[in-house]
Amino acid sequence: MSTPATDLPDSSRCPCGSGDIFGACCAPVLRRERRAATAQALMRSRYTAFAVRDLEHLLDSWHPSTRPGREELEDSLTSDVRWLRLQVLATEQGGPFDDAGTVEFVASSKSAQGRQEQHEISRFVREDGAWYYVDGDV
Ligand SMILES: [Zn+2]
Repeated sequence: MSTPATDLPDSSRCPCGSGDIFGACCAPVLRRERRAATAQALMRSRYTAFAVRDLEHLLDSWHPSTRPGREELEDSLTSDVRWLRLQVLATEQGGPFDDAGTVEFVASSKSAQGRQEQHEISRFVREDGAWYYVDGDV
């Protein structure tokens, strides 16, 4: 049901707004070719996964303690939300040598209800070298 991330050409602008091309930014993380080195990189890849509806990456990168069910997440992805822009406002820790970190961001989206801005401070943990999204304060 979910559309593979590869629908988006590698040469297009990465949805996460890094200014880099998709193929050099979030695509290798979504394809499991490369791990996100930092909490912010994982956060960006998850935003991109929402934008391109990559269900597998969202599940992969969600900590098992808070991960929603596949069907629940799939339902939220098949809605009419279009993700427009990501702005990362701040990060705390979350570096390659940290085990935890937070990322504060605003994600703009558009749906039948109009334009929305989600302002969240997300918490991440690193286990066995992989970053996971835990939860966030909206
Ligand atoms: Zn990206």
